[in-house]
Amino acid sequence: MNKNKASAREIIDTLGKKNIVAAIIIFIFAITIISVNFGILYNTKRDKIVEESKHNAIESAQKIDAYLVSSIDTIKLTSYKVDNYLKDGAGNDVILTYLEHETDSIISVIDDNYTGLYGYINGEYLDGSGWVPDEDYVATERPWYQKAAASDGEIVLVDPYLDSQTGTIMMTIARLLSDNKSVVALDLSLDRLQTITNNIVDNDYDFAMVLDSEGGVVSHSKPSELGKNYLDEKNSLESTITKKIIEKHKYDFTLKYNGTTYIVFAQKIGTGWYSICVINGTQVFRPLKIILLTSLLTICFILLIILLMIRNITTKHIETNKLYQQLESMSHIYAAMFDINLKENTYNEISNTTERVSDVVKDFGDNASEDMKTVMRLLTSEKSRSEVLEFVDLSTLDKRLENTNTITLEYLNNEDVWCRARFVVAEKSSAGMLLRVLWMVEIIDEEKRRQDKLQYLSETDQMTGVCNRGYGETKIRSLIKNGQGGMFVLMDVDKFKSINDTYGHNTGDKVLISFAKTLQGAFRANDIIMRLGGDEFAVFVPDVHNKQAGQKIIDRLFTMIDNTKIPELEGKGYVISVGIAFYQHDDKYSFEELYKHADEGTYLSKKHIGNYVSYYGDADTEEK
Ligand code: GH3
Ligand code: MG
Repeated sequence: MNKNKASAREIIDTLGKKNIVAAIIIFIFAITIISVNFGILYNTKRDKIVEESKHNAIESAQKIDAYLVSSIDTIKLTSYKVDNYLKDGAGNDVILTYLEHETDSIISVIDDNYTGLYGYINGEYLDGSGWVPDEDYVATERPWYQKAAASDGEIVLVDPYLDSQTGTIMMTIARLLSDNKSVVALDLSLDRLQTITNNIVDNDYDFAMVLDSEGGVVSHSKPSELGKNYLDEKNSLESTITKKIIEKHKYDFTLKYNGTTYIVFAQKIGTGWYSICVINGTQVFRPLKIILLTSLLTICFILLIILLMIRNITTKHIETNKLYQQLESMSHIYAAMFDINLKENTYNEISNTTERVSDVVKDFGDNASEDMKTVMRLLTSEKSRSEVLEFVDLSTLDKRLENTNTITLEYLNNEDVWCRARFVVAEKSSAGMLLRVLWMVEIIDEEKRRQDKLQYLSETDQMTGVCNRGYGETKIRSLIKNGQGGMFVLMDVDKFKSINDTYGHNTGDKVLISFAKTLQGAFRANDIIMRLGGDEFAVFVPDVHNKQAGQKIIDRLFTMIDNTKIPELEGKGYVISVGIAFYQHDDKYSFEELYKHADEGTYLSKKHIGNYVSYYGDADTEEK
């Protein structure tokens, strides 16, 4: 059998092009469905993230706005009051007292992020928190004074700066008073902004930041970034993002940086600052990508398994086809050949020249065990029927084919033609249970008759037609071995040589043939009559155990010999000498011994003229 795997061509031929095209369409359809679903999932997730980052940026911007508004309000109120003090001509000591009082109340009552109110008033630096500047401190040279002085009375936010001593970002809000010389200012730490920014992100790969209008970091979810200015940096992620927002006014975009995708959303704050939320898209979509990848891998894996299965099935299919072809080419030897599935109790016709099986069985292949009996009952001669029906009993087949691959039965069909039925094992389970058999019927009439003839020749004495010595002896041996008792009759024609001499050898032959015929007439059909050689014959008569019964038979024989007419003998006849020995069923000696016993009788009989019989063990002899 061909164990080679099926080739692509064979697979296509077996499955059929249409089926393969259908399978490919289904596969593409499955892949498309997965891809579309993944696309929807991806977009939904992306939209959700963009929405979240927008929301976070806007919410933090609002919080920052609200926080700064209270500081701006404080400076507005303070500048208004101090302006009034100046208009009323109040001295600096009054104004300082006011600043001290206000500082106290905003720190203790409103917010401890403020470090205090101070200002340059009437040419003097006044500090509400009691801080005493160094001698070289020149208030008018400070950024807060200069920026406020240049602002024409508007409230200014002085660029935040990192206080290296406290590590916090500080900023100043200042305003020029109506005398166009004096300025009041308020310092506040941006720790609160830092907290707001920190709350926007809850992982290591996203970040949020608040930048001032010039790219300076006001707050950042990574504190190490505080104090940097991203517009001054080159090619860093943050600088790329910052330039896009501040210089190109893009507030909602996706950016690829060093192979990582970032989703950016920025919201402008009232102060001209930016609240920015940056999401690491690659990280966010990693689980989704893993799902997509595993789905595709699973599909490919399933496809691979299906392909392997198809390949195996095709291989098996091809092997089965080849086997059937081989069986078919063999099948002309057989009149019928069927494949019987014992497990399913069904059968398939491989070949059938009789054409009559389908006539007999209506639902072909439907019920193996029943159909088998029905068909064989009809197609078998009455002589063979019972043994054929026993042979085709599928229920006992497992047992009968346990230790052999084939069993046969020769039978006569309903036209008295000799057939040979055969079961051959086709498939057994791993546990040794019979699953499938081949059923074949072969016409063996000619062979059978030739065989019968050969057997006849090998068993028969050519001239006389009785058993030859070899076959006769074998039969008697087997009978006595099986405890069959009987009478053994040994006979020799008297003076046969002289018959030959007087009438010729041919006449001698005729005498022997006639004698054999007489024996066949005198004894019963199942008595074993044989020619031992020359003019010596023997008969084994089963179930005759004594002289009385034996004598009757011998008398009948002698009478028949007496009445025999052989024309060539010219009115004369022939006589024989007979020796008889009995074998009782419980005797244990051999055939040779039995022969010897009978021969002793023959020897005695030879001494008498005419037909004469002597019994072994008799001292006297009887004469007819
Ligand atoms: P006896 O009375 O002692 O039996 O004498 P007999 O002449 O019959 O001698 P025996 O039985 O010993 O000889 C048998 C003879 O039969 C010897 C042989 O020439 C002859 N014979 C043997 N086979 C055949 C045969 O097939 N045809 C013929 N015509 N004669 C045979
Ligand atoms: Mg003789």
